[in-house]
Amino acid sequence: MVTATFRFYEELNDFLARERRRREFSCRCARMATTKHMIEALGVPHTEVELVLLNGESVGFDTLLRDGDRVAVFPKFEALDITPLLRVRERALRETRFIADAHLGGLAHLLRMTGFDTLYDNGFRDEEIERIAGAQGRIVLTRDLELLKRRGVTHGCYVHALRSAQQLREVFDRLDLARGARPFTRCLECNTPLREIDKSLVESALPARVRERYQRFSTCDTCRRVFWEGSHWQRMRAMVDELLAQAQG
Ligand SMILES: [Zn+2]
Repeated sequence: MVTATFRFYEELNDFLARERRRREFSCRCARMATTKHMIEALGVPHTEVELVLLNGESVGFDTLLRDGDRVAVFPKFEALDITPLLRVRERALRETRFIADAHLGGLAHLLRMTGFDTLYDNGFRDEEIERIAGAQGRIVLTRDLELLKRRGVTHGCYVHALRSAQQLREVFDRLDLARGARPFTRCLECNTPLREIDKSLVESALPARVRERYQRFSTCDTCRRVFWEGSHWQRMRAMVDELLAQAQG
């Protein structure tokens, strides 16, 4: 029988049974259990884990546990630089792209608003999300722990907040997105990059008051919507500015 000692740090504790939070505890492990298997068996999706120390040394997810092992499990660090240590994921994704599950439509729209390529369809089933994320190198956004535990999901982000504006802030903080933000460059409805378009080409389709007041327009080549910097845009602009200012501060 293999018994190992575990300690989870920071917000990873939220996933544990109450009596196991913020303390060391020992746990019996199945024979041939790996670090990943045990971490998930204790309730923590592997996508939330950034670093595993086994007896003080960083190891990957596939390391077999032996009797007496001490396992320390860390989320993404905010302040402490762990770059010299091996992280559990082999590679970072080259480009930050997302796929959101069916319950995160609001967050998906806000990510598109800040320019991040975000797939969302409330008809996506878990296996489709897993397949698309793997094939296209997308980070899975969800509040569904079972989805994050799927084998094919290598990069994921459990979203703690319930309201979409707070979810956006949470994802920005965790993944350090502010620098890569390109606000208002992507269609909120269908995720297509927007293209600036000359006013003369859209003028005839505009309501009179819009034609009078606005000069700059962009369009989506997929769904053919035309966008201008109206009151809805100004509210979103204020929200984005606040988000980016906080990230810099
Ligand atoms: Zn569109």
